[in-house]
Amino acid sequence: MTIAANNPELRSWVEVPANSDFPIQNLPFGIIRPTGKTARVGVAIGHYVLDLYVLASHGLLRELGFPKACYGSRHLNALMQAAGKSGMRALRQRISDLLNADNDELRGAELVRNEALIPSEHVDLLMPVRVRDYTDFYASEQHAYNVGCMFRDPDNALMPNWKHLPVGYHGRASSIVVSGVPLHRPKGQRKPPDADAPVFGPSTRLDFELEMGFVTFAGKPLGESISVAEADDYIFGLMLFNDWSARDIQAWEYVPLGPFLGKNFGSSVSPWVVTLDALEPFIVPGPEQEPEVLDYLRQDSNGHYDVALEAWIETPAGVETRVTESNLKHLYWSMRQQLAHHTVNGCNINVADMLASGTISGSEPHEYGSMLELSWAGSKPVALKDGSERKFIEDGDTVILRGHAEKAGVRVGFGEVRCQIQPAL
Ligand code: MN
Repeated sequence: MTIAANNPELRSWVEVPANSDFPIQNLPFGIIRPTGKTARVGVAIGHYVLDLYVLASHGLLRELGFPKACYGSRHLNALMQAAGKSGMRALRQRISDLLNADNDELRGAELVRNEALIPSEHVDLLMPVRVRDYTDFYASEQHAYNVGCMFRDPDNALMPNWKHLPVGYHGRASSIVVSGVPLHRPKGQRKPPDADAPVFGPSTRLDFELEMGFVTFAGKPLGESISVAEADDYIFGLMLFNDWSARDIQAWEYVPLGPFLGKNFGSSVSPWVVTLDALEPFIVPGPEQEPEVLDYLRQDSNGHYDVALEAWIETPAGVETRVTESNLKHLYWSMRQQLAHHTVNGCNINVADMLASGTISGSEPHEYGSMLELSWAGSKPVALKDGSERKFIEDGDTVILRGHAEKAGVRVGFGEVRCQIQPAL
């Protein structure tokens, strides 16, 4: 499929720096709150955001036919519900046309332009979607193998089911926060290896997980399934996703029903939803799946995405160190397979459900997507630029995830998600 808005030749009349995550080929959607105004839908372009409520108020989005209130909403849910996949695609195309260097419709309407195009430092970026349900997968083979080695043993690292289905669990939507919102270190039960009984207190093994989450449109009625071939029609876009994890709480509680309080105290997401359409130029083949998967998980075309991912730790004094470099293409199970598996039993998805990938680790140690793996359960401290070391995340540390795809001179990025860890309450 050729998507006109992805054309690498397109240029905007808005100045976009060469290293920007947000050229005219991206146009991610978010919820902005300009100084002194209410929340509304925005689109990022270079160092600016475009206020879609202003555009709608001046009739510039009339041809799309969506209620104006959708653009003035606190979350993207209403717009996603009204527009669906084809409508959001048409809206992105309309924004692309309005920002195109060859188009004078908005550029020439000075009053509207000045009101709608806002320097990004003059807006707050809010949580873009009201997440209805959140599911976390475990779709990176290297990560599953590494954790299996540490929580069990290398001979028993991958469970017998792992290469037959995308393992996942239902997480907690209420504690998903947007970039910039701090979280407190969680408290809970843990059992020190040499102790006979568990103890209670703040987690001593707080960790990040470098993940990508995707946001869905409304799915099919309860009882029906979304196939691998249909999956793209139900995926709106992707966000950086830090699935905060307390490894000591997790290791003690996870048998036999899986993650619970070691995970549900918080997850952090980036504020811009990069559409699946914008990532279409960056599709790549995935790893060969052996043994062959069951028919309902088979994918006939390439369904992985080449997106470079990074995690950084910023110390309380403000020194940033990149601690890992991974890539979305390292996933064993594609997003299509995740969604097909999620719904194969008839489970229904709703608008703005969040499905996260699980930690994405590459095969090299510097590509591991969590401190658990980078420090190998605390046995190999990670050196930071200020000379200090980390086995896990300390109070006052800020973890930052960044990601972008690049091809043919076009960079489509996600911005960042940052979250500072504050002491336990
Ligand atoms: Mn996770």
